[in-house]
Amino acid sequence: MSHPKLKNFRRIVVKVGSSLLIDAAAGEVKTAWLEALVADIASLHKEGRDILIVSSGSIALGRSKLKLSSGTLKLEESQAAAAVGQIALARIWAKTLEQHGIGTGQILVTLQDTEERRRYLNARSTISKLLEWRAVPVINENDTVATNEIRYGDNDRLAARVATMTSADLLILLSDIDGLYTAPPGANPNAKLIPVVDAVTADIEAMAGAAESELSRGGMRTKIEAAKIATSAGTHMLIASGKIEHPLKAIADGGRCTWFLTPANPVTARKRWIAGSLEPKGTLIIDAGAVAALYAGKSLLPAGIVRIDGDFARGDAVIVRGPDGHEIGRGLVAYDVENAELIKGRSSSDAARILGVSGRTEMIHRDDLVVAGPRGLETGK
Ligand code: GLU
Repeated sequence: MSHPKLKNFRRIVVKVGSSLLIDAAAGEVKTAWLEALVADIASLHKEGRDILIVSSGSIALGRSKLKLSSGTLKLEESQAAAAVGQIALARIWAKTLEQHGIGTGQILVTLQDTEERRRYLNARSTISKLLEWRAVPVINENDTVATNEIRYGDNDRLAARVATMTSADLLILLSDIDGLYTAPPGANPNAKLIPVVDAVTADIEAMAGAAESELSRGGMRTKIEAAKIATSAGTHMLIASGKIEHPLKAIADGGRCTWFLTPANPVTARKRWIAGSLEPKGTLIIDAGAVAALYAGKSLLPAGIVRIDGDFARGDAVIVRGPDGHEIGRGLVAYDVENAELIKGRSSSDAARILGVSGRTEMIHRDDLVVAGPRGLETGK
């Protein structure tokens, strides 16, 4: 199967590992390399694409700034090193992007921010706003508060969750190796690069050794895990070498890499998940005007809600029914049941005033809503 072209993607997450970004001997960011990468990012951005960066390096940079000896750090040492290094890391990304007139914002996430729906909606709406403002979010794990039990630990899987959470259509993992090989290339001269993976099968998983480089945690195994997360949510992924200058331009020019393709697209995959996998916790009965608005592809506003049943929290799945009780669709509700009761039937400006917030007042945003077709809900099953 041939692979798509870089220019066909609309929202791209680029994951940069510590060993690419940081010169281990000098303990500093490789400035020339970073500038070349950012030039590539700027040209993709200028063409109208949304770009998100997942950057590692906080622990490695903190370690060098604090002049810590090499060797394994204790948990509290790596948390403290990350606190020091993250400042430097964010600063260098902001400064380099700024040279191209691109603004940036730092987002530090924990495992729970991406796994719990309630918090996931918060992280996602902040990222969406930054993208709307044409900024490039720079994302890392919040290593200073993440303990072993509750952390990703590797930015490969974190980047895959960020990509699926933001409905990115491509995730690029820049690595110290140019793709997935049939066997570890260092040990086996006959190892061949696999240009396209159509499905992450057990054979593919078996090809990923446990290799880890000195500075980064993820080896090929976490990259394959990332591929599973990404492709099952409709995001294509690719692994390419970041050891060259202008690595994204090299991909665009058809350079060596491994593509992991998905048959789905992120919006349909997400909607299938909402419609088919989540247990609804409540029901919203809406009026005829709101039914028409939903059929026209709009979000559900508080004004259209007539009655609320059930007990749900923000981010839970709910069923939406018309005045006659007929199911119109399902979605993730943006308010818990107490607040939803307070604002039902009210205009968006009243709702904002009642809740003491300004801005977002949709009860269910259209991206989180699956409207049933004439034959009922398309669950894709
Ligand atoms: N979040 C870690 C850091 O910034 C890196 C994790 C990884 O190397 O994948 O230092």
